[in-house]
Amino acid sequence: MQTINRLDMLRNSVAALRSDGSTMALVPTMGALHEGHLALVRAARQRADHVCVSIFVNPTQFGPNEDLDAYPRQLETDSAMLEAEGVTLLWAPAVDEMYPDGFATSIAVAGVSANFCGASRPGHFDGVATVVCKLFNQVRPDVACFGEKDWQQLAVIRRMARDLDLNFPHADQIAGIPTMREADGLAMSSRNRYLSVQDRETAAILPSAMRNAKDRIEAGHDVSAALAELEQTLIAAGFGGVDYAGLADADSLAPLRMLANEPARLLVAARIGGTRLIDNLAIRAAPSADAATNG
Ligand code: AMP
Repeated sequence: MQTINRLDMLRNSVAALRSDGSTMALVPTMGALHEGHLALVRAARQRADHVCVSIFVNPTQFGPNEDLDAYPRQLETDSAMLEAEGVTLLWAPAVDEMYPDGFATSIAVAGVSANFCGASRPGHFDGVATVVCKLFNQVRPDVACFGEKDWQQLAVIRRMARDLDLNFPHADQIAGIPTMREADGLAMSSRNRYLSVQDRETAAILPSAMRNAKDRIEAGHDVSAALAELEQTLIAAGFGGVDYAGLADADSLAPLRMLANEPARLLVAARIGGTRLIDNLAIRAAPSADAATNG
């Protein structure tokens, strides 16, 4: 595995690797890698001859009171994990390589980024879209893999790729990889390491309360009642606050008050002991009137 931190060297390496027609997959990350990231790497390996993993803690996607400085950084450990997975390139630029003096451009993906994390973290998705577009142009991958764990992020990036007619990768080649979970159901996240032992135990209530809400919504119960109960369960368990608990169209992220005929997603962000956890689950579409009558 080659570790690269300069853009000109990245471009040379990518060109050399691709010169025989080999394909390239990109897995963008912020490091502090866990099994969830490695699932993306394995999926990427199945989709292309070479895998490039980027590790970049992107300052523009953090708000002024967020955990940019505290975000875990462990390049050596991460690098050993990626080497063991057969990754070809590790792209780990410094902040001034990514954002040289005079940097002035930002990509805003309206609509899909308006609600949920877009509302509770203003500017977050502009930072994500901009850095991911740069990573796409730097690596020019045939395929890119993102986690469904960050469902809204995946939707924002797919929207951006469609809207900007990107070809490397084409929107159809942006793969969403299912969320990897701990044994008790908590979605793996680099931020889970911030949790105290007690908070880590409480955190497992999040996925179980979400599964409960999913079952109720799919069974036809009132959506706002199911969401309110989900919030109450989290607060009663010891969560310090719920940024949002909502139902949305899976592609457009438009909030839904009731189940429609299109796939939906249950999305939650909740805080515990100063750590913000997010998770989401697929919600089966309501059976169409035709299907119900044909029964
Ligand atoms: P991050 O390093 O948190 O920016 O995440 C990098 C990529 O890994 C993103 O596409 C995430 O959605 C994905 N990811 C993070 N956690 C998980 C998980 N538990 N399961 C699957 N993918 C994940």
